[in-house]
Amino acid sequence: MPKTTSLVTGGAGFIGSHLCKKLLEQGNRVICMDNLFTGRKENLALLTDHPDFQFIYHDVQEPVYVECDQIYNLACPASPVHYQSDPIKTAKTNVLGALHMLELAKACGARVLQASTSEVYGDPAVHPQTEAYWGNVNPHGVRSCYDEGKRMAETLFFDYYRQYGTDIKVVRIFNTYGPNMRPDDGRVVSNFIVQALQGKDLTIYGNGMQTRSFCYVDDLVEGLVRMMNSKEGFTGPVNLGNPGEFTMLELAKQVLSMTGQKSRLVYMPLPEDDPQQRKPDISLAKKELCWEPKISLQSGLQNTIAYFREAIG
Ligand code: NAD
Ligand code: UDP
Repeated sequence: MPKTTSLVTGGAGFIGSHLCKKLLEQGNRVICMDNLFTGRKENLALLTDHPDFQFIYHDVQEPVYVECDQIYNLACPASPVHYQSDPIKTAKTNVLGALHMLELAKACGARVLQASTSEVYGDPAVHPQTEAYWGNVNPHGVRSCYDEGKRMAETLFFDYYRQYGTDIKVVRIFNTYGPNMRPDDGRVVSNFIVQALQGKDLTIYGNGMQTRSFCYVDDLVEGLVRMMNSKEGFTGPVNLGNPGEFTMLELAKQVLSMTGQKSRLVYMPLPEDDPQQRKPDISLAKKELCWEPKISLQSGLQNTIAYFREAIG
């Protein structure tokens, strides 16, 4: 049996590095493509000697040709701090990156999966969010480079599907956390854990009553692979996330109790357009992919705290 060659853009990032590892474990050949904007070679340290692993330094804003059977398009900074640091680059990465991966899929007959996001729902007026909800997104705010970039990427995916019959898969990922996040990633789980371990105050934005649903990375990666290998014609979009919903205050208290730290909570201004609530309806993923998360927030946090203890010394 010839091996499947999987291209993973953004493969040196947090989720991408776990995906590359899983695909290698499943016997695939893996090409990791990244410009190391937020990704790190150290996330790939245990993979680089694998005979079926290849790293290509490339920015998806530029076209590229590599022979492959499957493309996971994950290239894009995901933390608000990083995607807002150069918003035009973020928009171009989302839109041109999607275009170039669709062109590549068309040229080599590959199946292509887009890592879309719960951010396409914006500050949702429907709760929990189903895939049928069209969202509530500010088209010109500070988050728009990411939200609208991801929405345009979805548009391109579905237009390639309708116009050329490209074999597409679209997943909408909800807040995911775990080992291989950067200590300076800026997202809430890594911020709280790093702050707690360093004995610093935990930074609560707004009143801390906004909610998110946190999915452990192993569960998410399982969902990505299931979606890639799902039946022909099932395009999605499909939500992937853990429906457990927590306020940021609840998360902060959980992190403090699990790290045994006594840091104070300090309140800071809520960032512009910060969604008030978020929780996936995962009925479609359950039905079509037989997928649902298995790892509780408690045990996911345990692994993540252990990783950061080691990472920040
Ligand atoms: P991350 O920032 O850790 O990883 C993104 C990777 O993409 C990095 O390795 C980065 O260097 C690379 N990259 C960025 N711009 C690039 C470019 N122009 N060319 C090539 N590589 C580029 O983020 P993550 O959390 O691992 O997210 C991965 C994907 O999943 C992103 O597309 C993100 O939008 C999506 N997603 C993540 C979450 C989450 O909670 N983690 C939620 C929704 C969607
Ligand atoms: N947040 C917080 N303190 C932090 C970082 C984030 O209270 O140090 C809040 C943020 O305002 C948001 C939630 O946590 O309401 C999730 O933020 P994150 O950046 O992780 O992801 P996103 O907003 O994209 O869901």
